[in-house]
Amino acid sequence: MSAIADTQTDAPIARAVAAARARFDQGATRPLRWRLAQLDALSRLLRDHTGRIEQALWDDLHKSPTETRLTETGILQTEIAYTRRRLRGWMRGRRALLPYTLQPASARLLPEPLGVVLVIAPWNYPVQLLLAPLIGAIAAGNAVVLKPSELAPAVSATLADLIPRYLDPGAVKVVEGGVDETTELLAQRFDHIFYTGNGAVGRIVLRAAAEHLTPVTLELGGKSPAWFDDDAHLDQVARRIAWGKYLNAGQTCVAPDYVMTTPDRVAPLAAAIGRAVTEMHGADPSRSPDYGRVVNARQYGRLTAALEKADVLVGGQVDAETLYIAPTVVRASADDEALMTDEIFGPILPIVAMPSVDAAIAHVNAHDKPLALYVFTASARTRRAFVTRTSSGGVAIDAPLIQISAPQLPFGGVGASGMGAYHGRYSFDTFSHVKPVVRRGHALDTLALARPPFTGLKKRFASFLAGVRSG
Ligand code: NAD
Repeated sequence: MSAIADTQTDAPIARAVAAARARFDQGATRPLRWRLAQLDALSRLLRDHTGRIEQALWDDLHKSPTETRLTETGILQTEIAYTRRRLRGWMRGRRALLPYTLQPASARLLPEPLGVVLVIAPWNYPVQLLLAPLIGAIAAGNAVVLKPSELAPAVSATLADLIPRYLDPGAVKVVEGGVDETTELLAQRFDHIFYTGNGAVGRIVLRAAAEHLTPVTLELGGKSPAWFDDDAHLDQVARRIAWGKYLNAGQTCVAPDYVMTTPDRVAPLAAAIGRAVTEMHGADPSRSPDYGRVVNARQYGRLTAALEKADVLVGGQVDAETLYIAPTVVRASADDEALMTDEIFGPILPIVAMPSVDAAIAHVNAHDKPLALYVFTASARTRRAFVTRTSSGGVAIDAPLIQISAPQLPFGGVGASGMGAYHGRYSFDTFSHVKPVVRRGHALDTLALARPPFTGLKKRFASFLAGVRSG
């Protein structure tokens, strides 16, 4: 072995990936038994260490334990139970029918694991977004290398400690670290890379994957717009928007980024959202045990800078010491640079006056395809207009976020908001290759019709297949 190869295998990251590959190559991860045992172990881990996990999320994001159950561990347990119940059937594959020209023959579509999968997770839902892809990857029979986000350090350390104690340590590896470690990981060969995070790093991941021709799922973000014109349900809608926006202090990839409405509705909607915030978090949300904090000083600086020149209608209070930004509503124009260029990813909600539904649709279509689009309206025509004339990862009508919480629905972006999708069966498919296995019997050798020499009957047969009228 050369000196270079020696150093590479001495590197812990290359070693972890090589070990996962060796385990996969042994066939250890393929049996249904192994897959179910891993899913059960993951479920047990989440149950046995609820307190530790909730504490880590509190330390990293000031996330309330109840919110953690709703948006992190609860979603995972649902996903595990759903997958567990259906896995045997998914693994069986299915028969495919073949045309009479190939008969007598039979075919099966057999899902097979891809090999070693890399999962790179972000900090905002640091448990759910690391482990939900893991569920699909192990269900599909892969070995997995997990890279938690270094920006949620308590969660990263907790999971790096617990996962090897519960899951097969040969097949499921956790590599902690930041840019350097991720760069080193991306230099390795994987059979699939599943990345959740921002588009700039998404491009880095895609470039690195190209080197090894590795398929990639990118779960990205961007500005998810909302439209409102439902006066009859003003307060109900305001409660739902406030919940969807201020959950996890606005650091949710599918949070409504901004709301468009007609000019006369801007003030009433802002006032109603203000009332909804008070209902959820009291008059001073900084004292609410249920309201989160911005993840770090860098994000706090970015968000407060965006607020500096803003026309604040609700909230606006900030505190650098505790990284607190109050649930805030601002009035903004559609071309406001500070608020309407990049994804906000914090508890600031611009309300943008638009003259009409058509103008709002034109605004959406003039920008990157969003991850989510929300429509709050009583008009079926308006609903239809948004659904049919815009493109987005998903659409939810009259409620935010719900589209991502069901294992029955695929979750993923389109265009700049990502490629590929997961959850439930869609995860299993993402981490599998569907292999057609075709068998042709020996009886009745009709394949002779395709073999030279191409004489009379064979020519006529080929012309018939090609739809050419024989003269
Ligand atoms: P982040 O900073 O934690 O980055 C994500 C991962 O990329 C981390 O594991 C990090 O170590 C790695 N990384 C960072 N820089 C890198 C580099 N130069 N090279 C290689 N790897 C690198 O998280 P983030 O990107 O700030 O997350 C927020 C973004 O993610 C938002 O845009 C949000 O909308 C999006 N998001 C999308 C989803 C989704 O499911 N579609 C979910 C959550 C967040």
